[in-house]
Formats: sequence, structure tokens, C-alpha cells
Amino acid sequence: MVFLKSIKSKIFVFAILATLIPSLGLGLLSFRQNEARISDNVPRELRALASQASRELELWINKHIHAVRALSTSNAVIDGLSATTHPLAGKPNITPQALTHYLRSVQSQLDTILELTVVRAAGQIVASSAVAPSAVTLPQSWPDSALTEGVVLVPPHWNNQRATATLSVAVPVLSYGNVLMGALVAELDLRTAQPYLKSSTKSPLGEVLLLDQNGRELLSSRAGTTKRTSLDAKVLRQLLAKTGESMVFQGLMDREVIGLADTPAALSVTVVAEQDRDEVYAAWVEFRNLFLALVCTLALIVTAVAFRMGRSIVTPLQHLIDAANSIADGDLDVQLPVTRNDEFGHLTRIFNKMANKLRHSHAEIVATNEAMQQQNQLLETLSITDGLTGLYNRSKLDAILKDELARFKRNQRPFAVLMMDIDYFKTLNDSHGHIAGDEVIVAVAKILGQSIRSVDYAARYGGDEFVIIMVEATVDLARKTAERICSQVNEMRYIVNGQIISVTVSIGVVQCKQSDDATPTAVFARADSTLYEAKRAGRNRAHCAT
Ligand code: GH3
Ligand code: MG
Repeated sequence: MVFLKSIKSKIFVFAILATLIPSLGLGLLSFRQNEARISDNVPRELRALASQASRELELWINKHIHAVRALSTSNAVIDGLSATTHPLAGKPNITPQALTHYLRSVQSQLDTILELTVVRAAGQIVASSAVAPSAVTLPQSWPDSALTEGVVLVPPHWNNQRATATLSVAVPVLSYGNVLMGALVAELDLRTAQPYLKSSTKSPLGEVLLLDQNGRELLSSRAGTTKRTSLDAKVLRQLLAKTGESMVFQGLMDREVIGLADTPAALSVTVVAEQDRDEVYAAWVEFRNLFLALVCTLALIVTAVAFRMGRSIVTPLQHLIDAANSIADGDLDVQLPVTRNDEFGHLTRIFNKMANKLRHSHAEIVATNEAMQQQNQLLETLSITDGLTGLYNRSKLDAILKDELARFKRNQRPFAVLMMDIDYFKTLNDSHGHIAGDEVIVAVAKILGQSIRSVDYAARYGGDEFVIIMVEATVDLARKTAERICSQVNEMRYIVNGQIISVTVSIGVVQCKQSDDATPTAVFARADSTLYEAKRAGRNRAHCAT
């Protein structure tokens, strides 16, 4: 999880999870509840719709049975029928033409009745309101059932000729002597029952269909449907097997519907109440889409806020990291601008304070270091310098000579050693005092320092004795230098206790030879003996070793 290593991404992920988990959880719960409510409500509504339609249909058919029955007892029908079956003398006989005329005038007044036909008991047509009466097919046992039940209903069926579903109501026509003469058959237009299928104000949502035994549509509460369709036989079987229980199936309009079936007692039709599944769930889907849009917007807002928040933490943190890095790399001139008043502002102020302290401490350390270096340098200088004259001291002289001998061994470059001593210095000390003696020592040392080249070394050997080491110098050059020193010292005048005095020096000059000068001691010994020779020869002179 490399992505979760930065604070920014952690804030990001946390914010998104904190938004999505509760909102999706609540949404899911609410969807479940809604769905459960829908699946409870819809079947109840459908049941109500179907039973209302069945009831209304029964009322409709009964109303028309009554109407036909009333017609069947009219004098015109009885007389017209009896005239053709049992013409009675003395009774006003009505010709079939007159009966037809009567039937036509009645039929034209009733929208529901498409055709009124009077038939004999055996089924022959006596008169009909239609010009070409349709064949009346009554069940074999119709006279019995007509007498016992008072009516025979021919199940509704589709009438291609009339382009509507029709059903026939046959009511027995009895003579005045209660003898069955025939029947009055009314062909009813089922279309006129459509307004009864569903009340636009009282009925619940959904549509009602009337189907025949084969599942073919006879009538629909849906307005403006002209195309006849039929329900899948398997679906119809399932619906009839569980009458009153809803199921989802492919509806007649080629759409998925939730529907249930009811079978009214009065008519052999199947009443199907259905609701378009998409319409049922439309509100649910709309709510879901709205919810998703809301969650997406919320997630976007939270993401933007989390992004800003993450940046407001990470950016100052990055500045602090960069500044701390610069300090770690040695750049102490770091000062961060304090732009905020929150914890980061506080931390930045503390950081600046810390950097200031570090700068001060560092400056103090640098100053102390410099002072220490100067002290060390002074100590080093003091350790190699003669306190009275400022020339090199004896120990430094030994080191220089050792180095020069080593160099001589390496590259055979000659060097000369001049050893000098102030003549009769003891006497000077005695007659003028030690302080005057010290001044003379300092004055002679000054002449030595001025008489040598920058590459040469001058040292106080001890007491009134001095040594000069001339690097890469021939014996000739060394002798000339020694003689110059002798004459300069000799020419020098000192005023001591009001008296003018002068001093001389004797110098022994040796050039380094590998055979004799293996050690500094050997060199000094040779120089000392040459100096002794100069002393013995009368002093105030330079003497070279042969
Ligand atoms: P010579 O010509 O043979 O050298 O005779 P000298 O009198 O100079 O004898 P020597 O060099 O042996 O004597 C050196 C004297 O220098 C002895 C000592 O009292 C004196 N002396 C040594 N160190 C110092 C010093 O630092 N200051 C003073 N004023 N005198 C010193
Ligand atoms: Mg001396």
C-alpha cells in the first residue's frame, strides 16, 4: 500500500470511506424498505383492482340480463313468437316483419345491444334486428337451463365481423300460458363494459384486462388500444393456478408487468389486473438515481475538501522538511515565513526560533574555534621560539637540522651550518650587568635575522651562542654570510649605562658531509670545533671547516 504512505492520501481515503460507507449503508436500508413496501402494496392494489373489475362486470351483465328479460316479456315478442309457432284465433297476430321492426327500434335505442334475435325453441330464427342475423348457437341443453336459471349466457368471444368482443344473453320467451316458445337472444357489445372495468378516481393504479379461455384479449381498461394481443398460455396457466397472487410476467404490451388473475363467477372470462413494473419502480428508480447523484456530489465535495485539507497539512509540512534538510546539510540561514495562525504557524515559529538558536550557537562555536586555533598557533610558535630573541629555540633547531640531514641524504643538496658565539660575553655581563647582556643578545639576534635569506633558519643555541642553517648553500656563500655578520656585529654600537660599547662574534662554518654528519650531534660537534678554532685564532672572525 505505497499509496497510503502519505498523509494526504490517508486523509483522502478516510474522507471518502467516511462519506460512502454511512450514506451507502443508509441508502441501501432505505431502498430495501421501499422495495418491501412496494412488494406489499402492489399485490394489495392489484387484488382490489381485479375484484372491483369483476364486481362491476357482474353488475353490468346482470343489468343487461334484466333488460333483455324485460324485453322477453313484452307483448310484441310473445305475440310475434306465438304467431309463428301456435297462431291463435282471436289473438292479434304480429307478423315476423312487425317483430323485426320492433326489435330494430329497441336495438337502435340501446348502445350495448348489437343484435336482438327471437328464435324458436329449436333454434330457428324468427326475427332479428340485424339485416343478416348472425347464427345463434345455443347450448344443446339450453331450454332446461333457461327454465331453471332464467338465462343462458354464451361466453364472450371475439367477433371478427364486428371487431369487438361480444357475448350473447338468451332469455326464454314463454307464452301467456307459461309454455316455452323460444328465446330472445341479445348480442351484447362487451366494449361498452369498458368504463366499468376501472374507475378513474376510485380504482388503484394499474390496468384491467379481460381474457378468454385461450388468453386472448377481449377487453382492456387501457384507452386507445386497438391491437389485439394474447397472453402466453403458460403464464395464463400460472396466473389461474394461483388466483389472487401476484407474479411478474411479460405483459400484453411486451413490457414486464406485475399482475394477478381473478375469475368472476358471472362470466367465463379471466380478469387480469396488472401494473407496469417500470412504472411501479419508477419512483424507486428516480429516488435511487437522485440518491446516487447526491452521494456522488457529496463524494466530490468531500474529495475536494479532503484534497484542500491534505494540501494545507502537507504543504507547510514539506516546507518544514525542506528547511530541516537545509539545516541538516549545514545551511543555517533558514527562516520560514509564518503565514498561518494554527498549529503549523506555531510550529513554524518554534522552528524559526530553533534555527536562530542554532545559528547563534554555531557562530559561538566558530568564534571559539578561531580563538582556539589562534591560541594553538601561539602555543606552537612559543614552543619553537626563543623567548628573548624571537629566533627559533634549541628544540626547533634540532628538528630543522634533522629534516635537513634527511633531505641531504635524499637529494645530496648541500647545506651549511654557522655556529657563532659572542666574544667575551661573560666580561660584558660582569661589567654592565645581565640586563645589558640581554639587550646585546637581542641586538645580535636581530642582525642575524636580517642577514639570512628567507629560506634559511636562525636559532639561539643557548646562552650567547647562535646557529644559522643555510639550505642549498655552498661553503662559499656560507662563509661570505658569516663574514658579513661578523662585520655588521662589529660595526654595531650600544649605549649601556651612558657608555658606548661594541661587541664581536666568532663564527664556525661547516658544510654538511655525508660521511661525517650522520646525526645533528655530529654536525653541531663539527661546527662547535670550527667555532673553537675561530676563537683560538683571535675571535671576531669566521672560520670554515676544511
Ligand atoms: P668567549 O669569548 O670564549 O666566548 O668568552 P665568554 O666570556 O663569552 O665565555 P662564554 O661564552 O663561555 O660565556 C658565556 C656567558 O654568557 C656565561 C653566562 O653568564 C652568560 N650568559 C648565558 N646566558 C645568558 C643570558 O641569557 N643573559 C646574559 N646576560 N648572560 C648570559
Ligand atoms: Mg661567549
